Amino acid sequence: MKTVECKATASAGIDVDVTGGWSAVTGGLVRCSWRLQPPDQLLSVHVIRNEKQNIVLYRPRESAIVYPNVSAASRPLPHGDLHPIPKPPKINDNKDEITSTALSISSMSEYEVPTTSSQPHMITQAELNDLVRDLELPKNKAELLGSRLQQWNLLESGVAITAFRTRQKELIQYFEMVESLVFCKDISGLMGVLNITYKQNEWRLFIDSSKLSLKAVLLHNRNILPSIPIAHAVHMKESYENMKTLLLCIKYNEHQWQICGDLKVVALLLGLQLGYTKFCCFVCEWDSRNRKEHYTKKVWPQRQSLQPGQKNVQNSPLVNPQKVLLAPLHIKLGLMKNFVKAMNKSGAAFQYLRQKFSRLSEAKIKEGIFIGPQIRNLFNDVNFDSVLEGKEKQAWNAFRLVARNFLGNKRSDNYAEFVENILSSYQKLGCNMSLKIHFLHSHLDFFPDNCGALSDEHGERFHQDIANMEKRYQGKWNVPMLADYCWTIYRDVPEAEYKRAAKKRRRNSANE
Ligand SMILES: [Zn+2]
Repeated sequence: MKTVECKATASAGIDVDVTGGWSAVTGGLVRCSWRLQPPDQLLSVHVIRNEKQNIVLYRPRESAIVYPNVSAASRPLPHGDLHPIPKPPKINDNKDEITSTALSISSMSEYEVPTTSSQPHMITQAELNDLVRDLELPKNKAELLGSRLQQWNLLESGVAITAFRTRQKELIQYFEMVESLVFCKDISGLMGVLNITYKQNEWRLFIDSSKLSLKAVLLHNRNILPSIPIAHAVHMKESYENMKTLLLCIKYNEHQWQICGDLKVVALLLGLQLGYTKFCCFVCEWDSRNRKEHYTKKVWPQRQSLQPGQKNVQNSPLVNPQKVLLAPLHIKLGLMKNFVKAMNKSGAAFQYLRQKFSRLSEAKIKEGIFIGPQIRNLFNDVNFDSVLEGKEKQAWNAFRLVARNFLGNKRSDNYAEFVENILSSYQKLGCNMSLKIHFLHSHLDFFPDNCGALSDEHGERFHQDIANMEKRYQGKWNVPMLADYCWTIYRDVPEAEYKRAAKKRRRNSANE
């Protein structure tokens, strides 16, 4: 290879003069591709011979890039008198902050420790156990904390620390594993050990299913007691057969809880065909394909029975349809999805969403896949209100009213009016009627009287707990793990502690 200087001519070719070699090029006119080069400018080009012995010219890459020497660019400077090495702030400098934290801790009355004397308090086994639970410490860290406290003589005599290593032992007997499904085989027994007086009608079964896992949790109907996981399986497909196995393992027939979950889980439990089927409502014969009559025809023929082979029923139902509870959170998520999908994608409001949730994927935003806390956050966002216009603004306001007055903790007297309002504004916005909207339209009486008390946001919170647990166990779901999880919800002093946990949770959700 040779590097030569040459001149681009007006005819957009380049005269190349290669001295000292390659006679074929000398004096010749070689056509080349960089025609936009101003004529009469000197170029530096490489000349090589390719395998066919033809002459090929190419411009070296570096000649195209010029690095400007900008005076404003900041370069590293050595430390000196002008730039001394910064000193970390002293702890005393933060006195104000510490006092304010201390104040806010003492203002949380539920954390107040009654002090009767100035003597150091010796920690009992029950207190240590509860502390470990509140701090969500894994076994090894719980042991470390215990042994330190013992070293400093802060534990009552007889407090066992090594017990943390086998803390789940007492609970293991209530669980069993069959293939990939871990489940609780004796629910009243487990509740007894957890200090809970079990009444089956105080609990509802929440089933969460995804492509990756299947979880069943008992949720307390007034959301006072903690959620109890009773089955978990990884890589168990969401299918009718698997639902059947699950219900059999946890002995659903004995307990007959009310059941909640998203409409897909409900469809599986009732033996309906999945996917976009014509008759997807389990209450009536609503025709999901008959778009003309959506929003206008309210009353459809009731389903007489769930007979396999008729109107998209594939299997015999596994639970009584009367036991099904519609999950208000899922309805809310569905309404959000419908709203976002109908938004003008080039409008300011949609752009605002994209900007606000920049960490969400483009696909999730376009499909309107948001979670509860994000929707709550958006309800309170005045900036979002200010960019919304026309039909979108109307629909958004109607959605917020329904979420707060019907799907939330309180049901207003005029909730039906709010529901009518959201239906008409969604129709104007051009939202297709989904099964969830159909339930608002035709089966308002199917919703529990107080959606909030049966809110599945409790279940959503359980997801977060479980996600942390899964991280700790690195996906190895087995009997000891579920038992260990149950250890963390068990309280030595039930009454007071549940109250505390509930308060703590409420505060967390208020901060969202
Ligand atoms: Zn229906």
